[in-house]
Amino acid sequence: MIRKLLRRVFRRDPVTATALRSIEPAIIPVAQHGITRDRISPASRRVCSTLQEAGFKAFVVGGAVRDLIAGITPKDYDVATDATPEQVRELFRRSRIIGRRFRIVHVMSGPETIEVSTFRASQSEETNTDEHGRILADNVWGSQAEDATRRDFTINALYYDPSNETVIDYHHGVGDLKQKTLRVIGDPVTRYREDPVRMLRAVRMAAKLGLIIDPAARKPILELAELLGNVPPARLFDEMLKLLTSGHAVACIKQLREEGLHTGLLPLLDVILQQPMGERFVWLALENTDDRVRAGKPVSPGFLFATLLWHEVLASWEARKARGEPSQAALFEAMSDVLDQQAEKLAITRKISADIKEIWALQPRFERRAGKAPHRLLEQPRYRAGYDFLRLRALSGEVPTELAEWWNDFADANPESRETMLVPDRDGIAKKRRRRRRKPGGGADNAASGKE
Ligand code: ATP
Ligand code: MG
Repeated sequence: MIRKLLRRVFRRDPVTATALRSIEPAIIPVAQHGITRDRISPASRRVCSTLQEAGFKAFVVGGAVRDLIAGITPKDYDVATDATPEQVRELFRRSRIIGRRFRIVHVMSGPETIEVSTFRASQSEETNTDEHGRILADNVWGSQAEDATRRDFTINALYYDPSNETVIDYHHGVGDLKQKTLRVIGDPVTRYREDPVRMLRAVRMAAKLGLIIDPAARKPILELAELLGNVPPARLFDEMLKLLTSGHAVACIKQLREEGLHTGLLPLLDVILQQPMGERFVWLALENTDDRVRAGKPVSPGFLFATLLWHEVLASWEARKARGEPSQAALFEAMSDVLDQQAEKLAITRKISADIKEIWALQPRFERRAGKAPHRLLEQPRYRAGYDFLRLRALSGEVPTELAEWWNDFADANPESRETMLVPDRDGIAKKRRRRRRKPGGGADNAASGKE
């Protein structure tokens, strides 16, 4: 209690510090930034114009403005307004209020969902925080200038008004973006304490946009990393997912390790990255995800987490088999062990954890290339994900490349050729080789060996 009071009295309040500078925003005309209104999505344009016609202020804000200025296509659009969530809700038939800690409105328009948030007031001594300074609720409305000040980074506090195509810049965000610098608004230590997830966001934004984290914002991260332990697991999971599916996962994870932020997040990542085979597998998986995102292909969170945790499953599975547990049962126990351990830190949703398990459980079935089993595996709805996973295992050297190639050919082959490809032996490659030596020229074996 006393510590909390002292901290409140002595901590540097970012708001007062900024308020002293009394910010007049820069109004940047379209001739300078080049974002004409046809560059923003139809839904975000419509949401802004509906709000403005009803007498409210409305701007596209945050990531979309930042990305457009940086020459990147925005992945989604956020709108900031002085209308309250209830007022927004009344203007749009297809909308709903979501969130508790941070209430916003989701407005659905065609295929898009626009997140509409009401201008937030600056934090004050009355703000409800936990003993580490983490903000527990943020639903006090304020002016646009206050709203700008409580945003995380200068490059994220840019407001675009589609009606006159100007960018309103309260914190020199456009300049920072051009200079490739990520700067925290206010005092970084206080802002990280208010919301430790901002440290992860700093790393993600820097990696995505190729920015240098300003030394004042970078330095406290190592010391404050442990505060991530107080963040609710569901929020950490969302943020990790954003990071891993940003198209820059490799760069992000490398930077997380450099900043000392990785240990609290994926407790097992450390261990995995120390195993030579595990490390190769994880990097391959992340590169593969980045390639898919950049090519505009969907990535499944289940697949991604299945790859990140696979070598932990392997280790636990091997240990259980060594203790004499039957292979199949040991695998399922190992899967549960690993997922339970993760659940303490990351709230992997039930649906995603079911996806992860499905992909893992398919893996031993790829070893069976005789009888009806391979045909049945091909018909599995998750066959493709299972196969992609197998391919990564082969690329990393965990299973023979020949096994992944066999499945690729088997899936492509017509029904008759499939029959000739079968390997009449339950345990896969090792036995098959032995048998071939004994039986050179044998029909089915020969067909498969043609690919080795
Ligand atoms: P992207 O959508 O590309 O991940 P973004 O910057 O739009 O990036 P969102 O999570 O959509 O990220 O948030 C929208 C905006 O809300 C941000 O640009 C920022 O201004 C503000 N914001 C988001 N999270 C925080 C936070 N933890 N603290 C302060 N401001 C935040
Ligand atoms: Mg966004």
